[in-house]
Amino acid sequence: MNDQLRQLPQIEAMLAYPTIGALVDAYSRDETVTALRLTLGNLRHTITKGDPVQLPDFAEDAFADSLRKVIKQERRMNLRAVVNATGIIIHTNLGRARLAPQAIDAMHDVGLNASNLELNLTTGKRGSRYDHAEALICELTGAEAALIVNNCAAAVVLGLMGTAMGRTVVASRGELIEIGGSFRLPDVIAQSGAILREVGATNKTRLSDYADAIDDNTAVLLKSHTSNFKIVGFTSAPDRRDLAKLAQDRNLILMEDLGSGVLFDLSPYGMTDEPVVADILKAGVDVVMFSGDKLLGGPQAGIIAGKADVIAKLRSHPLLRALRIDKLSLAALEATLRLYRAPHDPFDTIPVLKMLSEPLTDVQARADVLAGLLDGLVATSVMPSDAFVGGGSLPQQGLQSFAVSIAHSDMTADALADALRHAPVPVIGRIHQDQILLDMRTVTDAELPLVVDAIGQAHAK
Ligand SMILES: *Cc1c(COP(=O)(O)O)cnc(C)c1O
Repeated sequence: MNDQLRQLPQIEAMLAYPTIGALVDAYSRDETVTALRLTLGNLRHTITKGDPVQLPDFAEDAFADSLRKVIKQERRMNLRAVVNATGIIIHTNLGRARLAPQAIDAMHDVGLNASNLELNLTTGKRGSRYDHAEALICELTGAEAALIVNNCAAAVVLGLMGTAMGRTVVASRGELIEIGGSFRLPDVIAQSGAILREVGATNKTRLSDYADAIDDNTAVLLKSHTSNFKIVGFTSAPDRRDLAKLAQDRNLILMEDLGSGVLFDLSPYGMTDEPVVADILKAGVDVVMFSGDKLLGGPQAGIIAGKADVIAKLRSHPLLRALRIDKLSLAALEATLRLYRAPHDPFDTIPVLKMLSEPLTDVQARADVLAGLLDGLVATSVMPSDAFVGGGSLPQQGLQSFAVSIAHSDMTADALADALRHAPVPVIGRIHQDQILLDMRTVTDAELPLVVDAIGQAHAK
C-alpha cells in the first residue's frame, strides 16, 4: 500500500509532462492543478482504504483525458437544468414552477440593467418596490391592497407579527398544518410573538368554537388551507362568510394562509379543492397569503392581499425589509401576473397551467414520439400514468397522464435512474415496479432530445 502511495507523482513534476502541459494551455494552470489534486486525492483515498488500485500511466494521453473530464465537470454549474419526468408539475426538489419566457425576459432586462426598482419615474422621487405589481394583484384578486415578500412562509410570519404580536390568534385544530421543512403553524404563531388559541376538534370545528374562544386579547381568526392532506368523513368547518361576519362583529382580522394561490377556477381541469383568491376575499376574508411559485406559476414570492388598513400596517412593519422580495423575483412576478390578463391566455403561456391543462391526447402523443425515438435503444412501452400537481397541493388528486416505461436488459431500474441523473442534462423519472417511468405531462416537446441523449449515454455504459 505504502509503495503505491510513494508511486504517486508530485503535482509540480506532472505539470512538466507534455500531455498535462497541453491541458494547461487548453484550459488554465489553476484548473489543471485542481483536477490533479482531486484525482490524486481520490487515488490516495482508495489506496489508504486498502482497495486494490491499478495506477494509471500518469504521462499518457488516457490520464490527461480523464483530467480533461474533471476540468469540464468543475466548470459546470452546480445548480443547473434537469428534465422533470416525474409527472409532478410543481416538484419541490426540482425547483417548483418553471417560469414563462416572458418572466425570464423581465429578469434579464432588470438584472442586466439599472432599473426603476425604487424610483418613481413620474415624480423623480424615491419610489417603492412594492408598487410595481400591487395594482395587478388587486386587479386579479379584487383586493384593496397587496404586499409582496420573499415567500408565503414569510408572508404568514409578517402577517402574524404585524397584527397579533402579544395577542391571541384563534385557529381550528383541523388546520394546524405542517407545510414541510419544519414550518409548522403552531410554531410559526409562537415565533411571531402571538399566542395560539386552538379550537374545535381535528375533524370538526364550529362557528361557536371560534366565537367562544374570543376574548379581549384576541386579534386574529386564522384559517389555513390544508393543502397537503385531507380529512374526510365526519367533518365540518364554518363557512368563510360566517367567520368573516364573526370577525367583523368582534372587530378582529380574519386571515387565511392559502398556500397555493389560484387566480382562476381550476375545476374544469379536475382540481376541485383549490379555492380562488378572489372568491376568498369576496367571502369577507380580510387578508390572504399565497405563494408565487406554486399554482400561480411564477417565481418564489409570498403575496399578501386584502384590506388596505391591514396591508398598510404590514407595510410599515420594521421587519418587512428582512423579508422583502428581490428585484429579479419581482420582475418575474410582474411579468407572470401580466400573463393572466389580455391579450394572453394563462393556460397557454404559464408553464404550470399549461401542463396541468394539456389535453390527455397530446400527452399521449408525446409519449408515442419518445417511444419512437428510443426504438432500437431500449425496450419501451407507453402506458397510462397518474401525474400530480405537487407543491403541497391535493395529494390525492391525480391528473391523467401517459408515461414511457423503460426497461434495460442489463441494468436495474435503480442503476438506470442513477445513470440518467448523471447525464449531461440529468433526467429525473419515477421508479415503478422495477421500471423507470418517464411521465410526459411534465416534459416538453423540446426536451425529448435531451431524454434520448441521456438514455443513449446510459445505454453506452
Ligand atoms: C406551501 C405553503 C406555504 C409556504 O409557501 P412558501 O412559498 O413555500 O413559503 C404556506 N402555507 C401553505 C398552506 C402552503 O401550502
